[in-house]
Amino acid sequence: MTDAISLIRAKRDGQRLADDDIKWLFEAYARHEVADEQMSALLMAIYFRGLDGAELRTWTAAMIASGDRLDLSSVGRPTVDKHSTGGVGDKVSLILAPLVAACGAAVPQLSGRGLGHTGGTLDKLESIPGFRAGLTPDETLAVLASVGCVICAAGSGLAPADRRLYALRDVTATVESIPLIASSIMSKKIAEGTSALVLDVKVGSGAFMTSYERARELAETMVALGEEHGVRTRALLTRMDVPLGRAVGNAVEVEESVLALQGHGPGDLMEVTLALARQMLALAGLAGDKAGDPAAAIADGRALAVYRAMVRAQGGDPDAPLPQAAHTQVLAAPASGWLTGLDALKVGIAAWRLGAGRARKEDDVSASAGIICLAKPGEAVQAGQPLLELRADEPERFGPALAALEGAFAVSDQGPPPALSPVISEVGPA
Ligand code: URA
Repeated sequence: MTDAISLIRAKRDGQRLADDDIKWLFEAYARHEVADEQMSALLMAIYFRGLDGAELRTWTAAMIASGDRLDLSSVGRPTVDKHSTGGVGDKVSLILAPLVAACGAAVPQLSGRGLGHTGGTLDKLESIPGFRAGLTPDETLAVLASVGCVICAAGSGLAPADRRLYALRDVTATVESIPLIASSIMSKKIAEGTSALVLDVKVGSGAFMTSYERARELAETMVALGEEHGVRTRALLTRMDVPLGRAVGNAVEVEESVLALQGHGPGDLMEVTLALARQMLALAGLAGDKAGDPAAAIADGRALAVYRAMVRAQGGDPDAPLPQAAHTQVLAAPASGWLTGLDALKVGIAAWRLGAGRARKEDDVSASAGIICLAKPGEAVQAGQPLLELRADEPERFGPALAALEGAFAVSDQGPPPALSPVISEVGPA
């Protein structure tokens, strides 16, 4: 028999938590016998002391056991999902889920909403008139089985302990802990029931992890957790110093995703999407399959057809015009030369201030607000040429957004910066 104070003291003093103690903790927390302030103190102790591999496995298993685990065995195709740690202009899921489904896999994308400067996949899709992100478990399974992919909100029954822990971490400065991030993400993905998972771990100014070393450690920790729980898991580390593609916002990102599915996507967006698609198809055992070439599935229109079917199956009209912002303003290049930088974090914060993101989870987002990057690093620009187009529903949003963009881009007359692939490296099981 243990108690919360002993566990907090043990972790505070750098000792290991035993398996039985972790299981007891989550059961007692679910019964409200461990108070939020005690859980908060333990989270802070973990922030400083960490969890070793065995503790983290048990911690994650206890979070999964706090709720339901979906059974996707009736779907009839290999299941594979993707999770991104979040970035600016990251609309990859909208393209990738139908693309991988068009190649023969089933993609159960149970997603979240955006908070802060990174956008949420569900907020983007909800800019499509009629689209429903809140499906019941039966509806989720039905769309997945009939279309091959579904992008919807993770129901409250999946890893409910994570929801409570995340709310505590958010207000106690304990979000930025690798074991706590890894267990939070992986408990939801494992509970979702997918057989395989590819993680897109973003690195750079606009990402959660700004250093390569921390991003790699997070990727390795999540891959190990997935494999230990029977989910084949790989990770790609991808750059997030610059917004991905040209559109940042909700409806504007849907528009860019449809263009990408029509074969007209920007180079960096397509490189990341196709690299993730190939990893997912390899994990699903479909890489050598005749239908399993993602570039071909875009070129022949199969991926676009699956996207349209998914939108319709979730109540949306893929042909309806998307909401347009009432006001626009452009930001021009201060000098002629080569655009050498466009800071993802500043662009993300500006899009958020224009109304595309939310400050608190109960806030509404604007479907039409956002930013179009009219030039990207590596391109030649002339003084006075528009670099960014800002869109908002209310003109008073432009001032704070422009303030966030102070120093967001760099122009040099020294020639173009070296072209770097947005995909940095791959992480597999140790
Ligand atoms: N996303 C999550 O789901 N959990 C975290 O802890 C961080 C990002």
